[in-house]
Amino acid sequence: MTLVAVTKTHPVKTVHAALDAGLTAVGENKVQELAAKREALASAPAVWHYLGRVQTNKARDIVRYADLIHGVDSLRAGEALARRMEAEGRRVPVLVQVNVSGEASKAGVEPEQAAALVDGLRGLGLDVHGLMTLASPADDPEAVRPEFARMRRLRDDLGGADRLPILSMGMSGDFEVAVEEGATHVRVGSALFGDRA
Ligand SMILES: *Cc1c(COP(=O)(O)O)cnc(C)c1O
Repeated sequence: MTLVAVTKTHPVKTVHAALDAGLTAVGENKVQELAAKREALASAPAVWHYLGRVQTNKARDIVRYADLIHGVDSLRAGEALARRMEAEGRRVPVLVQVNVSGEASKAGVEPEQAAALVDGLRGLGLDVHGLMTLASPADDPEAVRPEFARMRRLRDDLGGADRLPILSMGMSGDFEVAVEEGATHVRVGSALFGDRA
């Protein structure tokens, strides 16, 4: 299980303190912030996770600065990433973002479309290492257990952990439940670093 320390909005010194404390995975959702922090901490042995949307005009910097791209939800985004990986000579694995909550405002493909997107991205030459989701906001994390369980079943239907080893799900409010339901990566910000400004 990997704890991704989500340091967005916090200064470089917070990231530095997190790495000093033994955390090894850092998550950011803005490319510029990811780039700046990575450059500032270039000598630190950290793995950098990009958690934001993949905008095609940001694909170059995402490919340059991320070690794992969590939120790919379209073939178009995949094409932009594949082109940039080719140009940069750098392969970065990706996760397919799935919208299990059914909220229209959320990014991610419908669960029914996940298989086609995984295949489509692999067809572009991308390394698809798993699935990612954001659960519905809920005061009681038990309320979102079915969403995490559905992600786990979806991953199993798509070939299981051999084919898709990563299941990125769970945040400050619900990571315990996500882990119980099979998360391999939890993305935790405020529970580690306090509220964001
Ligand atoms: C900000 C963010 C998180 C962390 O949220 P917390 O509630 O602070 O733990 C996790 N995942 C994504 C995609 C985020 O943008």
